[in-house]
Amino acid sequence: MPKGLPRKSFEWNYCATCGSTLVQDHDGEQERPYCAACDRFFYRNPIPASCLFIADEQNRLLFGRRGVEPCSGCWALPGGFMELLESAEECALREMEEETGLQGVDPVLLGTCSSRSPDKGAVLVLGFAIRNWSGILTPGSDVRELAFFSRHERPELPFDAHRSLLAIYDTLYS
Ligand SMILES: [Zn+2]
Repeated sequence: MPKGLPRKSFEWNYCATCGSTLVQDHDGEQERPYCAACDRFFYRNPIPASCLFIADEQNRLLFGRRGVEPCSGCWALPGGFMELLESAEECALREMEEETGLQGVDPVLLGTCSSRSPDKGAVLVLGFAIRNWSGILTPGSDVRELAFFSRHERPELPFDAHRSLLAIYDTLYS
């Protein structure tokens, strides 16, 4: 990249290990950011995240009104990004407790969906149904309010991946 050009946000411009400027180089079939000093390619992979389908006895689903961007103020399904050394199921149950105050068991994987994210690049969303839970609804710091919605009351979801997973949920649990 010529000197003086503005760096693109969310692109990898520098080596995370030695700080050298990265160049695009061929790694087999793909071009990837490469550090010549470390002889290392940098792989940009989707970030795994969970999306939670928490149902009550009437098969109403729990939505949270988002308190953070993107789509702050919109009703959406609870969930969040996986941490290192955490299983997908552990991520689902941790995010559930953080965002809703509920303790769940036996999350069931519904399916996966890949999507673009304006601030994370790409996300691999893992949908989990959690029908076995206890506790008192308590909105987490990222959530303004929580409510259960029946199929006909549900707000429109702001994320494509969540809509795709909701269609799977409805096929399995309608
Ligand atoms: Zn380096």
